[in-house]
Amino acid sequence: DKLGVALVGLGYYSTDLLAPALQLTKNCQLVGIVTGTPSKAETWKKKYNLADKNIYNYQNFDQIANNPDIDIVYVVLPPSMHREFVVRAAKAGKQVFCEKPMAPSVADCEAMIKACADNKVKLAIGYRCQHDPNTQAFQKFAKESTFGKVRMVTCGAGYFDARTTHWKQNKALGGGVMGDMGVYALQGARLATGEEPISVTAQFHTTRPDIYKEVEETATFQLEFPSGALAACHTSFGINMNYLQANCEKGWFKMEPFSSYTGNKGSSPLGPINFPLENQQARQLDEDVEALMKGTALIAPGEEGLRDIRVVEAIYKSVAAGGKMIKI
Ligand code: NAD
Repeated sequence: DKLGVALVGLGYYSTDLLAPALQLTKNCQLVGIVTGTPSKAETWKKKYNLADKNIYNYQNFDQIANNPDIDIVYVVLPPSMHREFVVRAAKAGKQVFCEKPMAPSVADCEAMIKACADNKVKLAIGYRCQHDPNTQAFQKFAKESTFGKVRMVTCGAGYFDARTTHWKQNKALGGGVMGDMGVYALQGARLATGEEPISVTAQFHTTRPDIYKEVEETATFQLEFPSGALAACHTSFGINMNYLQANCEKGWFKMEPFSSYTGNKGSSPLGPINFPLENQQARQLDEDVEALMKGTALIAPGEEGLRDIRVVEAIYKSVAAGGKMIKI
């Protein structure tokens, strides 16, 4: 039997990626929605044949506790709203999936992890790339030291965002490139080394100061890892880039793109990295649901989201201190 999923927040990612993926999943299906917009409720109800009793708004959401159709609540709201809705879902006794970035602060992430633990539900973060066999291929090079130790990673993650008043440009809603595209660059460095960074230095920049008044448009950051490996990362809402290169003691590997929805690919001295993948989000959903059903470990639990936000907080500290090195 498929588990029932309710999406919270019906913006771009829910509409264009998650709902279509939930039509392809084998272990779960879209059965409910939580939305603040009545017209969206009507459209989604018709399009996905949803029962009236499975449609909630932000006020009556907590009543989902009494709804056996819904096993999983997937929070797809602006980052500053993740904590509230993850905690409410956990208190309702539902399994919780939450989009990246997990939340704006370490304190938020810890509260979310605690709420899920207290209510004996699992928390998975929407790190879709970790479910992609192309990502797993380069993670394996790091894990198995295929080319010796990884010494240096360069990674870029960005796109040109033409919007001017979206939550991505709004501090209170959890905007700023670091939590957004920045976590891809950070994950690239973490996954390509297989290590957790011990220090960071960072710089922010913008070419559009009229739009990026509250949050950073572009960031560069440099990470140091316990083995001595280094990473130079670049992330932006003003530059299209999607690449990763790792130089190792006895070789290299590179990916371009490394964090797209489709077509992630790369190469190493062993040949091309180019695994087929039907639908990345469907793979993520099915693998996470399988872990819930079997009681096995999630690929990206709340603790994994927290690891990134710890580094993101250190990056803000570094910039506030004029680019000082911050220990993590
Ligand atoms: P979006 O702006 O398109 O959608 C956000 C939704 O939240 C909208 O439906 C909006 O109505 C709702 N909302 C409720 N209260 C709001 C408020 N006060 N201000 C603004 N919106 C409010 O954003 P999105 O691109 O769908 O992103 C949603 C989440 O999904 C974010 O956490 C984002 O980082 C994540 N995301 C992840 C991926 C991925 O590849 N994993 C891709 C895109 C977005």
